[in-house]
Order: sequence, then structure tokens, then C-alpha cells
Amino acid sequence: MKRSGKTVRKGDLPEKDCRTCGRPFTWRKKWERVWEEVLYCSDRCRRERPKEQP
Ligand SMILES: [Zn+2]
Repeated sequence: MKRSGKTVRKGDLPEKDCRTCGRPFTWRKKWERVWEEVLYCSDRCRRERPKEQP
């Protein structure tokens, strides 16, 4: 299977979609212990959470 433009490598780092901005972000070393809990791509997005229901 081929995707135009980008090559998808095997063994690539996992990705998630940021809860705030919706962009995919890639696993980072600093998250290796908390990856399951990481929901945001950056500290900024973590602070700027989507509007919570009042
Ligand atoms: Zn984000």
C-alpha cells in the first residue's frame, strides 16, 4: 500500500491527536512513562483545554 507523498515506516513512533488543537503529535522520550495519559501536544494546549461544560 502506498500513500502519496509520505512513506509510512514500520516501527514508527506512536501518535495521538491533541485534544485541544486536534493535530497529531508523536511520542516523545519525556512521555515514555506517561504516554497513556498524554492528551495534549504541548504545555500550551494542555492549558488551553477545550471548553469544558459549565
Ligand atoms: Zn495541541
